[in-house]
Amino acid sequence: MDADVFVAWFEEAARLVHQDRDRLTRLDAEIGDADHGTNLDRGLTEVCKALTGAPPASPAQVLSTAGTTLIRKVGGASGPLYGSVFRQMGKQMSKAAETQGTQGTQEARVPVTLAAFAAAFEEGVVAVERLGKAALGDKTMVDALAPASRALALAVRDGVDVSEALGQAARAAAEGAKATIPMQARKGRASYLGERSVGHEDPGAASAALIMAALATVAG
Ligand code: ADP
Ligand code: MG
Repeated sequence: MDADVFVAWFEEAARLVHQDRDRLTRLDAEIGDADHGTNLDRGLTEVCKALTGAPPASPAQVLSTAGTTLIRKVGGASGPLYGSVFRQMGKQMSKAAETQGTQGTQEARVPVTLAAFAAAFEEGVVAVERLGKAALGDKTMVDALAPASRALALAVRDGVDVSEALGQAARAAAEGAKATIPMQARKGRASYLGERSVGHEDPGAASAALIMAALATVAG
C-alpha cells in the first residue's frame, strides 16, 4: 500500500460520503444536530484539496495531512476524532519507517505492508477512544472502527491477502455500524437523549463504515 493508494482512499471516501451526505445528516438529525453529513463532506473535500495541492510522498504523510486537515476544517466532534485517528496512524507509520531505516527522501515511497497498516490502524483507534473517552458499546464511531481493526489484526495473523483482509475489515465496520441501532448512546450529543437514542444508527459509525468500504475498494 503506497502513498497513491492512501490518496485514492481519501478520494473514494470523499466520494462515498458526498453520495451519502444526506443519509448521514438524517441519522444525525435523529439523535444529534443534523450536521454529520455536511461536516464530513466538507472535511473530506478539504482533505482531497490538500492532497492534490501538494501530493505527499509517503503513506505516513498522506495520513498526517488528512488528519490535520480534518481537525482544522471540521467544526463538529467528528473532525478532531477522525483527525486523531489519521494523525496517529501517520505517526505510527513514520515511526515504523524510521526503525526500518526507510524514512526520508525517495525511500518514503516504500509501501506499507498490511501488517504495518493494521498496527497503525489499531493505534488510531486507541487514539480516538482516548480522545473521546469512548469504548465499544457506547454507540459511536468506535463501534465500527474497533471491529474493523480487530478484523484486520486477525487477517494479518492468519496470513490473509490484502484484498480479502480489507474486505473483511469493511464488512466488520458495516456490521458494527448496524449493531449501534439497539444501543443507548453514552458519548457525544446522542447521549443527551438517553433511552431515546435507542433504535437509531449512530451517524459516526455509519460514516466509519463508508470510510472502510472506500479502502476496500481502492486497495482491495
Ligand atoms: P457533533 O456531534 O459535534 O455534531 P458530528 O455530528 O460531526 O459532530 O459527529 C457525530 C459523531 O461523532 C457521532 O455519531 C459519534 O459517532 C461521534 N462521536 C461523538 N462524540 C464522541 C466521543 N466522545 N467518542 C467517540 N465518538 C464520538
Ligand atoms: Mg452532529
